[in-house]
Amino acid sequence: MSRLTAELEDALAEREAAGLGRRRHAVETRRGARLTVDGRDVLHFGSNDYLGLAADPRVIKAAQEGAARHGVGAGASHLISGHFSAHEALERELADWIAPCRDPRALLFSTGYMANLAIVTALCGRGDAVFGDRLNHACLNDAALLSRAVFIRYRHGELDELRRRLRDSRARRKLICTDAVFSMDGDIAPLPGLLELAEDHDAWLVVDDAHGLGVLGGNGDGRGTLAHFGLASERIVYMGTLGKAAGVAGAFVAAHRAVIDTLLQTARPYVFTTASPPLLACALQASLAIIRDEPQRRLRLFALIARFRDGAATLPWLVLPSETAIQPLIVGDNVGALRLTDALWQRGLWVPAIRPPTVPRGTARLRITLSTAHTDADVARLLAALTELAERA
Ligand SMILES: *Cc1c(COP(=O)(O)O)cnc(C)c1O
Repeated sequence: MSRLTAELEDALAEREAAGLGRRRHAVETRRGARLTVDGRDVLHFGSNDYLGLAADPRVIKAAQEGAARHGVGAGASHLISGHFSAHEALERELADWIAPCRDPRALLFSTGYMANLAIVTALCGRGDAVFGDRLNHACLNDAALLSRAVFIRYRHGELDELRRRLRDSRARRKLICTDAVFSMDGDIAPLPGLLELAEDHDAWLVVDDAHGLGVLGGNGDGRGTLAHFGLASERIVYMGTLGKAAGVAGAFVAAHRAVIDTLLQTARPYVFTTASPPLLACALQASLAIIRDEPQRRLRLFALIARFRDGAATLPWLVLPSETAIQPLIVGDNVGALRLTDALWQRGLWVPAIRPPTVPRGTARLRITLSTAHTDADVARLLAALTELAERA
């Protein structure tokens, strides 16, 4: 074995010994939250398909019709020849729906990861400063590093610290970025306070709404976290992902026309990649229509969340104070979290254990996510299993 390979083998063995090894499970079939995985039937509490749209027959049909009409692959990047009328129509719809400011436009990306890289690198560079919440998603951190701006991380939700850091910064351009709903904790960012700071310090505010879009909104409309707070501003650059509550894949940025034009002209993760299959844009139009027209899906979801939190209050593990579909159960050590996951798996329940570096050290957890695809009985079954395991622990 070469020295290089041996070094990798050693590092992998070390990860494994620290309870940090990661495994994949191959899903064979899916019926709502019921999956056949590695030959076993399990009830799943680990998906971001919060509204149960990923396998909705209407969304599937739209994808099929999209494939029949446009083919499967886009064949080129958007700026060469891969931009289809289906992309164009979806962008228009998203811009009007989210409307983060006056004169809004939207731009589709293949993934949320790429959208975040695009936003931060297009708006900031050397001599600028990016300010990010410590619990932001990894791709916002990667975006800040890639931009070559000074990267300043503030303690989770600490607006006073952020204010001080903004005031002390001599950077020419400033950009604040935040998860709107924190992906591993489920809590909602203090967006009104963040927008006020952005105004006071002439900064951009990048809002990553991967887990709010489709779930939160004004009057339960699913329009996401800006609508939840009733916010709009030219400073806001909104990023929504389309592979979570929307059930498909991809992401979009909605912002002022000048921001979107800048991304289209200069953002490397937009310019130098093949456009997403237009059939996905067709599927997404169907999925957005359901998000808008079926508020009962959100009512169901919030009823399940309340039911879960009620039942989980007596468990010995800390359940973080989250109003959203993400309901983390903090275990602490990596091995303990894995053991709990394994015990649930033995009982036919699939709940992923999340460990560092995805979450801070010492806060390994079960990231329980609820979905409209769950029934009351499903949640009761999860709570009964957790209660039984708590008594044994
Ligand atoms: C999932 C996620 C992303 C990445 O989106 P993808 O479309 O999966 O690449 C970005 N930000 C947050 C907060 C996320 O949870």
